[in-house]
Amino acid sequence: MSVIDIAKGMGLTLGYMFKRPVTVQYPRDKVTIQPRFRGRHHLLRHPDTGLEKCIGCSLCAAACPAYAIYVEAAENDPADPVSPGERYAKIYEINMLRCIFCGFCEESCPVDSIVETHIHEYHFEQRGENIVTKPKLLALGDRLEKEIAERRAADAPYR
Ligand code: SF4
Ligand code: SF4
Repeated sequence: MSVIDIAKGMGLTLGYMFKRPVTVQYPRDKVTIQPRFRGRHHLLRHPDTGLEKCIGCSLCAAACPAYAIYVEAAENDPADPVSPGERYAKIYEINMLRCIFCGFCEESCPVDSIVETHIHEYHFEQRGENIVTKPKLLALGDRLEKEIAERRAADAPYR
């Protein structure tokens, strides 16, 4: 290595010292979340009836490359006045420690029930909290229903 090579290297270093840093001081500085960012999952309901959309078909579980989803299906009572005999997910669980946020579950769902949102800041404090159950997924969906609908409408022309 010659003196010229060292000078070139030092020149490059000096040049970068006066450029704007690309490192973001997260979490103090927030980063821009892109519209199609895949974060935490939610389960949605039918807006008109309030019934859960999921029909327990297990397509999301079959598509999941990380085996993170567990579904057990059941059928409503045939005499049920609202949805007689309708199939639903008796158990729906996602193991968030397995999930790689690939989005295959959302893509494979025939009824647009499972949705990934922009939420990426969350934590678990107790053993087992990484298994997110159906009531929790539905509650999150209820809370963000309007926002999810707006995001989907904005993305619709490109799907
Ligand atoms: S995002 Fe991918 S890895 Fe995570 S639950 Fe869905 S299919 Fe599985
Ligand atoms: S979330 Fe969708 S794909 Fe998964 S079991 Fe329910 S209906 Fe089927």
